[in-house]
Amino acid sequence: MTSNVLAVILRQEDWRENDVLVTMYTREYGKLEAVAKGLRKIESKLVSHLEPLTTAEIFIVQGRRWPIVAGSFVENPRFSLRTDLSHLVSAGAIAHLIDLMTPLENPDERIYGLLEDTLSIVTENFLEPATGQLLVHLFAWKMLAATGYRPQLKICLQCHHRIAGEKFFFSPRRGGIIHSRCHSHGQLLHIEIKTAALKGLTYMLEAPMNMTLRLRGERQAFIEMTTVISRTFEERFEIPFPAIASVI
Ligand SMILES: [Zn+2]
Repeated sequence: MTSNVLAVILRQEDWRENDVLVTMYTREYGKLEAVAKGLRKIESKLVSHLEPLTTAEIFIVQGRRWPIVAGSFVENPRFSLRTDLSHLVSAGAIAHLIDLMTPLENPDERIYGLLEDTLSIVTENFLEPATGQLLVHLFAWKMLAATGYRPQLKICLQCHHRIAGEKFFFSPRRGGIIHSRCHSHGQLLHIEIKTAALKGLTYMLEAPMNMTLRLRGERQAFIEMTTVISRTFEERFEIPFPAIASVI
């Protein structure tokens, strides 16, 4: 591997001596880990280029065991994220989610596009903390669909008829909706949701991320939506949904 890639930097961890292992999501190869040599030295020119949440063009060469960052050019530093704590929290959660939800070296340009779009929304808009939380959850929702866990929201899992009514149950384990009348009360793991939440979840599977900013509804609907998403994530990945500290 010797190539230029366009990458969003997800995280850094200390490696040997002055080196740092950089995890990035690239347009060309999907998630990639590469060693940046000498990054921990204060005078390293690469430091700001490889700051998490930056988009950079990166020149990668294959080292003996690991890909190595040989050069970089910043495309979008997203400076404004770093001056606003609540935006930084949302953007950090998005980077963390993509790290958790994607395997190494499995390219997917749609996921790259979704990541760029979502970070742009966080960078360029004023977000209330509740909107930031919803955005992070809807990012995970679209990522679940993009990584093969597309939920069934149109047909009842139990009777296979079209979903109708005002109250439903969502099964995180089976990844879909059940009519209220088809739901058996022993199923404690099912989440009760109403029409507004179901509509929001269905709409956002297809709609571009920036439509999140236009979603209007009762607080209860958003709580139901975020519960469905975090529980589905936990069922699929068997780890807790990343905590998004609410910043006031
Ligand atoms: Zn049914």
